[in-house]
Amino acid sequence: MLEGPLDLARSRILVTNDDGIHAPGLKVLERVARALSNDVWVVAPEIEQSGAGHSLTLRRPLTTRQLSKRRFAVDGTPTDCVLVAVSHLMPRRGPDLVLSGVNRGANLGEDVTYSGTVSAALEATLIGLPAIALSQVRDGTHPVKWQTAEHHAADVIRRLTRFGWSKGVLMNVNFPNVPANAVTGVQLATQGRRVASIEIVPVTDPGGRPYLWIGDFTSDEALEKGTDLAAVEAGAIAVTPLHIDLTHQGMMRKMKQDFA
Ligand code: MN
Repeated sequence: MLEGPLDLARSRILVTNDDGIHAPGLKVLERVARALSNDVWVVAPEIEQSGAGHSLTLRRPLTTRQLSKRRFAVDGTPTDCVLVAVSHLMPRRGPDLVLSGVNRGANLGEDVTYSGTVSAALEATLIGLPAIALSQVRDGTHPVKWQTAEHHAADVIRRLTRFGWSKGVLMNVNFPNVPANAVTGVQLATQGRRVASIEIVPVTDPGGRPYLWIGDFTSDEALEKGTDLAAVEAGAIAVTPLHIDLTHQGMMRKMKQDFA
């Protein structure tokens, strides 16, 4: 939650991600955060946690590794990182803003339900902190256009922290897969839905045993207007306010008479 405009220069910013402490996107976001404030902390997973969603490590202990004064790796999930950061590593003064990313790849449509990047922001929101998830859309065959996120992220963060946010809201930002100077603008967008689904790829290991890879999403067609998917396809930065409360109010109203 964000009660009102945030004075970023005086804010303590926590940076986390799901691609891990060594990810290039984390370094991008650290530089962006440092351009906004001198008080930047980094607490990120020791190893990549993409697809970890909102999972929490409950059946084994967690270790933290301090890399420098305000930089830590946690051998857990993005959710673990936010919890450990806020309740353990930053005991005297917690963050005023949590930034998660920049993720290597999109977090659009239903991606947000799998995403460790978005879930770190979700966890911060549950604690009552304003949080922004940031992702750089890419395609599989070309280098990730990190410069696009790096060039535009600070402006988007400034814009998003100029007003108060409703309770339980987190911000999901996706940078389009175009060069920084080809970005067509910032678009407010709804969470879309992909037409295609994830493919399962059967393979054989060197010992002749069959196994499976959960593959990538196949291409998306028939983009619904106003969605995050359509926005990045049009070369715009997609901004979507997400909500912790997953209740469908319309369906709730329809069901009311049957559950009177
Ligand atoms: Mn990731």
